[in-house]
This record gives sequence, structure tokens and C-alpha cells, in this order.
Amino acid sequence: MASTQTSSILPTYARTELAFERGEGAWLVTADGRRVLDFGAGIAVNALGHAHPHLVQALTEQASRLWHISNLYQNPEGERFAHRLAEATFADVVFFSNSGAEALEASIKMARKYHSANGQPERFRIVTFEGAFHGRTLATIAAGGQKKYIDGFGPKVDGFDQVPFDDHEALLAAIGPETGALLIEPIQGEGGIRPVPTERLRALRALCDEKGLLLVLDEVQSGVGRTGKLFAHEWAGIVPDIMAIAKGIGGGFPMGACLATREAAKGMTAGTHGTTFGGNPLAMAVGNAVLDVVLAPGFLERVRDLGLRLKQRLAELKDRHPAIIAEIRGEGLMMGIKTHIANTDLTKAAEREGLLTIPAGDSVVRLLPPLVISDEDMAAAIDKLDRACTALDAALRAAPEKAA
Ligand SMILES: *Cc1c(COP(=O)(O)O)cnc(C)c1O
Repeated sequence: MASTQTSSILPTYARTELAFERGEGAWLVTADGRRVLDFGAGIAVNALGHAHPHLVQALTEQASRLWHISNLYQNPEGERFAHRLAEATFADVVFFSNSGAEALEASIKMARKYHSANGQPERFRIVTFEGAFHGRTLATIAAGGQKKYIDGFGPKVDGFDQVPFDDHEALLAAIGPETGALLIEPIQGEGGIRPVPTERLRALRALCDEKGLLLVLDEVQSGVGRTGKLFAHEWAGIVPDIMAIAKGIGGGFPMGACLATREAAKGMTAGTHGTTFGGNPLAMAVGNAVLDVVLAPGFLERVRDLGLRLKQRLAELKDRHPAIIAEIRGEGLMMGIKTHIANTDLTKAAEREGLLTIPAGDSVVRLLPPLVISDEDMAAAIDKLDRACTALDAALRAAPEKAA
């Protein structure tokens, strides 16, 4: 096997040494048989854990029938999937993509086209929020507004105006005659599990209605049951006009989607947008299988119960380790631990205890377990985090100047 020095993979990721051979539910297993508990779920992708029997069956059955047809022909499995998504949400129509960034690209193009179809093509600008993450394409790095992702890649795509996360006055000031939409994650993921308060989401909806703006939500990370509702915006009792989803909807199969009302989508007529792979029969079969599980009676209720319990246990950890943990935040099984120390010190200490977690912005460690996690695995994760924090406490006492 090639060492990291001679890897032929483009080195855009700083990878840990771990290499996995297989997965079972919430556990990953290395080639030498070491088992680690997966509280990252491939960054909120493996919503049903690893090798879920219903997903394996759906994928393998489809694999022996038909892999790919293009979007030139009818797509019955895709029709069924889109219809189920529409029935379960605010949406009337769905565009299937292969990733979150492409779902956002479709959402951005749709918002611009809507105003163009209304005879106002000048309203192409979209207001976004600091700390946002919307993907790595040229348009979505401009939307996300993070310097570290934009620098060196030529002129930033025009049409995105960023305002502070929670500053309504700045938002009002940023809205001009060319503004057509607001784009926001109901809970920032990469930005550090920062939930938009319910009242603020309602205020954004009201502002959009007042000014004729489209509300575009990025639920790529927060969607598909992650917060204990099918989509996080449901907690606020509002609906968007357009919504990008991905990650959990494929349960590990690459897939995204742009959901919209028929009104918001009215500019997207035949020929205006496209994709070769989006809506691929393999993806549609798996997507339908994910919905079978997530929409089953009691599933989201259990996620809410687990989320409450996780939050309580994390609050207890914070009380036991006040030098390490500053704050617990999030919703359902999308939780963040804000640390006093470097967040990667905690993710590494947890990894040494056999628990995978994911660092995020604002000095946060993300916990994104599979939504099907058992009570025992949840308890095991808390024990591992407790041991990791105890080890870090001991290290702090030995070298107190390292405390932030
Ligand atoms: C992961 C993510 C994206 C980008 O999805 P990709 O599939 O990596 O393109 C966009 N928005 C949010 C909120 C995400 O978490």
C-alpha cells in the first residue's frame, strides 16, 4: 500500500491514519479488527448507519436490474421518490443532483431564474450569513463567503452579499433592489452547530414575504431526520420556497436534491438546467429505501428522545469537565460541544478512546451519530467522551499554560 508521502490522491484533505474495511450499524471496523464507534456518520451522511439491511437490499436489487438511463427517459422510481418528498414537505417539485453543492447550485439558479421569469432579471443577488457553508463549487464558495475557500481561485462569483449571523439591522441594510433571495442553514454545520433561533427564522420568512424575496434553506446537513423533525425548519413552523438537501438522503449513496414550490420553480422549464447522473436509478432506489425507514411511524420520535438524552448526558459531561467543555448546543442528533481547548485536541482524544467525532468552526466538536443508534451505543459514546475529557483534564493539570 502506498504511504501518505507517495499517495496518488490529490492531497486536499489532511486524513487521519485510520482505514476502515467494513461497517456494522454505528461501528466501523479496521482491517486489523479494531472497532470504533462512528459519531461522525461520514459527516451526517450515514443516517441509517453502515450496511443497513434495507438499504443493502434496495441497492443490490436495483444493481442487478438497471444502473443508469440518463434523464432522456421516464424514471418511475425517481417519480415515486420525488412524489414522496413532495408529500412529506412544503415542496411541489424536486430536482435530483449528486451532491450538496449541486443541490445548492440548482437552488441558486432557480432563485435567479424566478425573478428573471417575473421580468426582474436584475434581482439576482442573494444574501448569505457569516459562518455559512454551502459547498466547494465556484458559486457555493462565493455563497459561503469563507476567505480560506475563496482565495487563489480567481474572481469570486458575483451576486452574494454576506451579513453577520445574527444582525437584523445589517441584513436589512444589505437588501437592495437587486436582492432576490436569502440563503441560510437553519443550523450551521461546518460553522459549528449554530442553530438559527426559531424567532429569527420566522422573522426571515416574514421579511421575505414583505420584500418579495425567496427564502432558500440549505438543509444538506440538518435535514432528513437529523434534528428529530424530517427537516430542521419544521421546528420553527415555517416553510422555505426552495431547499437544498443531500448527505443523509442517500444514506451513503451520493445524492442531493433541490426541492421547491411550483411558484419558485416556475422559471425552470425544459432545457434550463440538467445533470447526467442526477436521479440515477441506483440513487432513487436507495433514496426510497431511506424514506421507508425515516418516515416509518415512531422513527423521528425516537430521534427526538435520543437527542434529548444525548443533550442531558453532554450537559453532565460539561459539569464534570468545565476546563474542557464550554457549551453544548444543537438539536436532536446534530450536537456540538464548544471547547475551551483546541477542538481537534478533543476529537483526537476521543479517537484514541475509539470514538469518531468531527471538528467544526467556532471551536466545536460535532456529534452526528447514525439516527438508528442503539441505547447501548449512545451510552458507550458518552463513556468514551468522558474518558477522553478525563485524559485532557490530566494533561491540562500537567501543563496548565496550554489552556486557551
Ligand atoms: C456538506 C454540505 C454542503 C456541500 O455538500 P457536498 O455534497 O459536499 O457538495 C452544503 N451545505 C451544507 C450545509 C453542508 O453541510
